[in-house]
Amino acid sequence: MIAQVCINYQDANVDKVFDYLVPTHFENSIEIGKRVYVNFGVSNRIVEGLVVGIKQTTDIEENKLKSVLAVIDKFSIVSKEQIELALSMKNYYALNLGEALSLVIPPFVSSKQIYNICAKKHEENSNMDDDLKKLYESILKKPVSINSKLVKENKEKIIKLFLKGLLEFDLKNFAIKEDSEKNLPLVEPNYNLTEEQNKALNSIISAFDEGGYRNILLFGVTGSGKTEVYIRAIQYAIEKGKSVIFMVPEISLTPQMIENVQSRIGNKVLVYHSKMKSIDRLNSWLAARNKEAVVVIGPRSAVFAPVKNLGLIIVDEEHEPSYKSEKSPRINAVEVAQMRAKINNIPIILGSATPSIEHYFYAQKGRYFLCTLKNRINKNLPEVLIVDMKKEILEGNKSIFSRLLLSEIENNLKKGEQVLLFLNRRGYSPIVICRECGYVFMCKNCSISLTYHKEGYLRCHYCGYKEEYRGVCAKCNSKYVRQYGSGTQKIEEEIKAYFKDARVLRMDSDTTSKKDATEQIVKKFREKEADILIGTQMIAKGLHFPDLTLVGVIDADILLNMPDFRSRERTFQLLTQVAGRSGREKPGRVIIQTFNPEDYSIVFASKHDYESFYAQEIKLRKMMEYPPYSYVVNFIVVASEQNLAKKGIEHVYTILKDFENETDMKVYGPSENPIFKIENQYRYHILVKFKRAGQMISIANLIKERYNYNNASLIIDVNPLDT
Ligand code: ADP
Ligand code: ZN
Ligand code: ZN
Repeated sequence: MIAQVCINYQDANVDKVFDYLVPTHFENSIEIGKRVYVNFGVSNRIVEGLVVGIKQTTDIEENKLKSVLAVIDKFSIVSKEQIELALSMKNYYALNLGEALSLVIPPFVSSKQIYNICAKKHEENSNMDDDLKKLYESILKKPVSINSKLVKENKEKIIKLFLKGLLEFDLKNFAIKEDSEKNLPLVEPNYNLTEEQNKALNSIISAFDEGGYRNILLFGVTGSGKTEVYIRAIQYAIEKGKSVIFMVPEISLTPQMIENVQSRIGNKVLVYHSKMKSIDRLNSWLAARNKEAVVVIGPRSAVFAPVKNLGLIIVDEEHEPSYKSEKSPRINAVEVAQMRAKINNIPIILGSATPSIEHYFYAQKGRYFLCTLKNRINKNLPEVLIVDMKKEILEGNKSIFSRLLLSEIENNLKKGEQVLLFLNRRGYSPIVICRECGYVFMCKNCSISLTYHKEGYLRCHYCGYKEEYRGVCAKCNSKYVRQYGSGTQKIEEEIKAYFKDARVLRMDSDTTSKKDATEQIVKKFREKEADILIGTQMIAKGLHFPDLTLVGVIDADILLNMPDFRSRERTFQLLTQVAGRSGREKPGRVIIQTFNPEDYSIVFASKHDYESFYAQEIKLRKMMEYPPYSYVVNFIVVASEQNLAKKGIEHVYTILKDFENETDMKVYGPSENPIFKIENQYRYHILVKFKRAGQMISIANLIKERYNYNNASLIIDVNPLDT
């Protein structure tokens, strides 16, 4: 038996595995996902490694083949399934093995507090000197913590005992903490499913019963009762003894969803996310690993939860960009969820009111199964009005607010109903310009203009750089400096000036940086302690306020003007989402302010018409050969000096030349990244479109292998969300 062992498996740069012979006496205890001791390198030092594969043969010559010295773990630290998932991610995203493993190995595995060293019964002939024997017997009597004094002082002897196969790591006996809140009596809804919901649920159940990997796209307008369908599907899976992973885009914005699920499923619900305190995370990890038939609910990282017997995956708001990691490793949790469903041979539900264009396309082609919920339960969708801001200006209104919006706000305040104002830009003004010399105040680390905040400072929204605002030009010392454009702070100030008695709340990353701040603002608004809520896209998602009947979109063009082929898709999604906050219980209205009132993303969003939007957008994608008509990879090269980054990208370009004869592959660039400098790192990129996924994967991996310019690092972004 041969073990494939990854040494330094927690190092992101590691990408190799080595074959080791498994001595027969370890054949029963060795397992994928356990740690082992092996000799490594010419010096043969003893190192720890992780078993990522087991096979029967190797190409290594017999006399060069080293043996596994000891199996460290009693239980594997990552399951075989998770290792398989890591290998799939490594391949698909062209990652190093270490990067891929870092996603599935829980961070506390290297924390010494959670393991004991235990002794195994010893065989008569294991010859030990007295010292060693004494140590062994004391451990046999009572397991010791890895971070105990005894272990620290006897390191070498401990290793000796390990090598004799007499010791192993065991998880300490942690009691899984039960959350008392979760033991509240379960509630059952006082309604029956609608016909549409029933049909959707039945399709999900039959896919579940049949087994097999299958994508089900649940396309349901906001308020159509998707959650109820999810909950019943979860209940069904749990009854059948299976676990469920339920992914939501952002935990702090989905407290209602979580409460909802908990009130129906009870203590089978485990919340799992990377911002948890480490003890809570450990607790969730242990519970996921040990309990039968659980639901793990959480954002991106929930996809890695170590549940047993996974039977169903649900991804709510599957179109949300937050599922994609913008830091390395640049995975997309929706794609990873699909990989995991495939490995387990189970169905995955992708739910959205505004499906991503790619997924809807696959549903149209029959690759995904489509379930549709067309109607809002009992209520109608809000009426949406578009205001042409060009006309407002022509007619003499210079305010950020259109006359219509102002009069509607006034009406709402009179009726005692709530208002939500959406502007996807925080701070006071996004641009500060010297009117004397034209200088735009820039971040010293990034090629980004600084945003003025009314507390008297300028801030870079990319790297967080902050400087005091003196109102003096950095280039020419002129005091003739002005701020342009509006952010949420300015909206707040002006609204308060228009409506002096209104109670106003603001929710953006400046007001929600403290723990629980988001929840508090949401609670305050729900309990009607405020009339108007102003915020960035964090107020657009998921929230439910019964008395909210007016939504104002201050500037719909911010998204539309992004230099990205998905800008219209994003605009449509965000407008639909924010509009969906209005009139959830009483008739509601939405007012969209824009300088592009004819743009189809805005027009169809105002009509709640996803299909027409899709029909236009897919034509454009086809014409431009954008996804789903191609697979895109962005090769980005980053260095602290401009010329090094440039040399790096030229190297990538040279490697790409080797594939010149590949048909169906198009190379764009090299060029400077849209944001050329971020945190003092210069960026160039090359965008490549592939016709086939397999071709994309193999070429991306070859480029990763061949890239060897050490002065600049290469980032491979597969299916990038911002190009
Ligand atoms: P979505 O997730 O599609 O936006 P929700 O799950 O928020 O929709 O459902 C909207 C509301 O309708 C919720 O308050 C929910 O309790 C209620 N609801 C769901 N299904 C039904 C039903 N069959 N009959 C009556 N009310 C329902
Ligand atoms: Zn100046
Ligand atoms: Zn910056």
